[in-house]
Amino acid sequence: MSQRLADPIVKTLKSKGLRITPQRYSIYASLLERTDHPTAEQLLVDLNRDLPISSQATVYNSLQALCDAGLVREVLLEHGVSRYDANTEAHHHFVCRQCGVIEDIDWHTFPDLSLNQLRPGLQAEAYEVTVHGLCDRCCH
Ligand SMILES: [Zn+2]
Ligand SMILES: [Zn+2]
Repeated sequence: MSQRLADPIVKTLKSKGLRITPQRYSIYASLLERTDHPTAEQLLVDLNRDLPISSQATVYNSLQALCDAGLVREVLLEHGVSRYDANTEAHHHFVCRQCGVIEDIDWHTFPDLSLNQLRPGLQAEAYEVTVHGLCDRCCH
């Protein structure tokens, strides 16, 4: 148990006031490890390899709790498809139109947009850029 308490994932979950469940732990661990912005369905498939008890509802509830705690964010790049990202720093995304791979783009890759160019009456709060194109593998 003392070993588990020293676990950085357990520490992070606790620091956000989240109860540690095997699903929350595994989902957060999985999202920290991968950079492919999986959907809840993809996470469920992976999770069931380790914890065959997980249902879709548990995965959604765990993701919701992680999002509410600010540890994970929902990324909407395609209409109606929620993907999840443990990179909560501001960043942009590259989406390959052929294979669908999604890659993070560092925020500082682009100069800041001048949001004060918006028409009066619109109050900007956040933005991010989605670049569409072909990835290395699909370019050839
Ligand atoms: Zn590609
Ligand atoms: Zn991302």
